[in-house]
Amino acid sequence: MPLKKVLVTGASGQDGFYLINLLHRQGCVVHAQSRRLPHPSRRQDETCWHVGDPADRDFLDSLVSSVMPDEIYNLAAISRPILSWGLPRETADVNGLVPQDLCELLLRHKPGCRLFQASSSEIFEDGADRIQNEQTPCVPKSPYGVAKLYAHRIIGAYRAQYGLHASTGIMFNHESPRRPLSFVSQKIAYAAAAVSLGLTETSETDERGRPILLDGKMALGDLSVRRDFGFAGDYVEAMRLIVQHRTADDYVIGTGEDHSIEEFCDRAFGLVGRRWTEHVSSDPSLFRRVDSHYTRADTAKIRSILNWQPKVAFDELVAMMVKAQIDFIERRTLSRLQPDASHRRVEN
Ligand code: NDP
Repeated sequence: MPLKKVLVTGASGQDGFYLINLLHRQGCVVHAQSRRLPHPSRRQDETCWHVGDPADRDFLDSLVSSVMPDEIYNLAAISRPILSWGLPRETADVNGLVPQDLCELLLRHKPGCRLFQASSSEIFEDGADRIQNEQTPCVPKSPYGVAKLYAHRIIGAYRAQYGLHASTGIMFNHESPRRPLSFVSQKIAYAAAAVSLGLTETSETDERGRPILLDGKMALGDLSVRRDFGFAGDYVEAMRLIVQHRTADDYVIGTGEDHSIEEFCDRAFGLVGRRWTEHVSSDPSLFRRVDSHYTRADTAKIRSILNWQPKVAFDELVAMMVKAQIDFIERRTLSRLQPDASHRRVEN
């Protein structure tokens, strides 16, 4: 049987990394799109990289028509809701219209190609204390969520209208050592690692331009926010299962557990033998006016139809991230030259 040709957009990001590794393990020929060629250390062997902007219609057309993939995983997106407020038009274009363009291109070039769209729990109304599933009302609160909801609905519409095998995964937060430092989970892992190595001040800065750790302390926003945190490596397995299934559909992907930011701090600092309360404070000026305060996935559908369940538990995930940050800081200290890492700016 000929090898499956798979195209991954937004492939340089966290999920792209894990997905490409999985696809190679499963014997696929992998084509990856990014707006710039990733650093060689972040590029997996045997992946064919295509450099261009997915929002450029001509580029996307020639990408699909030249690769003629059997499967597409559309991961490209402005992936931080808070960033989308500064880039509302670009967010609408990339997060909302590119998925629609992909449907059109499949109709034109390869209707049999299967499509996975990275949808998000940010399309839902705030959970309050309710668990969220495929039937939860959609009330997105940011340009990110609104654009993701457009994509989510348009994929469903093309599936119904044209019979495309186009599916969505409504994904809840998933983290990994590959998560950018701008996300709160990685910021906590980084601060715990820095404290464990005796640092009291870091060169990495937050959205206010202040070191993440200053005088041994880190300021975060609302610590009571509760999220469903999973491991990215597990979520890409769910993506792949969704696409392999006979019929296309929408699936919530999450762990079914929720943990507060405070708990994340507690686990991360506890791992390095510290009390989080001595190093983390909650700064009301960092509270977000519009944010999801509670997310927890009801994963009954994906568990029963696709037999998927996450393998990495919350404690394991936090430990994996803290350990990776300790390794990162130690490597950097040893080499004493990390020009691109030493000025990473971080937004909460
Ligand atoms: P990342 O931010 O790590 O990766 C997204 C990729 O999209 C980037 O590598 C980037 O590639 C590309 N991208 C960013 N901005 C633009 C832009 N303006 N135009 C075109 N491409 C752009 O995200 P993740 O890997 O974590 O997430 C993958 C997908 O899953 C995203 O669609 C995200 O919204 C969605 N998702 C993720 C969740 C999570 O918790 N991780 C939760 C729910 C949904 P490059 O700069 O190289 O072009």
